Amino acid sequence: MSHIRHSLQIRHVDAGSCNGCEQELTALTSAAYDFQHVGLDWVASPRHADALLVTGPMSDPMVRPVERVWAAIPSPKWRIAFGDCAAGCGVFQPAYGTHGGLPEADLVIRGCPPEPGAALQQLRDAMRSTTPPQS
Ligand code: SF4
Repeated sequence: MSHIRHSLQIRHVDAGSCNGCEQELTALTSAAYDFQHVGLDWVASPRHADALLVTGPMSDPMVRPVERVWAAIPSPKWRIAFGDCAAGCGVFQPAYGTHGGLPEADLVIRGCPPEPGAALQQLRDAMRSTTPPQS
């Protein structure tokens, strides 16, 4: 981005996760990590989001919903792959009906599941990034 962001509003979509990643996303909002304190938050509507965050290996039924959520987020916007499955290298990857995770991710947060402290640091680093987002 061309400037330092002070907040990042995120729309999360579960695209076939085992829910391990969701446990760690929930932990981010706990008192231990308190990610709202640094300007991060979840939003219910993609119209209010700066970023799409996907968990899971992108199962067949979730391909179109993820595309629709991405299309509904106003530009500029980010794609975030959270966890090894969304990164295209998780344990479900060879499985029938999966699509290699989130394509063209701007930020990939690795781990199965990612450790919340490390994930929070990557998100904060991304907020300060000068890399142009998707438009
Ligand atoms: S990366 Fe691991 S914890 Fe996350 S959805 Fe895949 S298997 Fe579950």
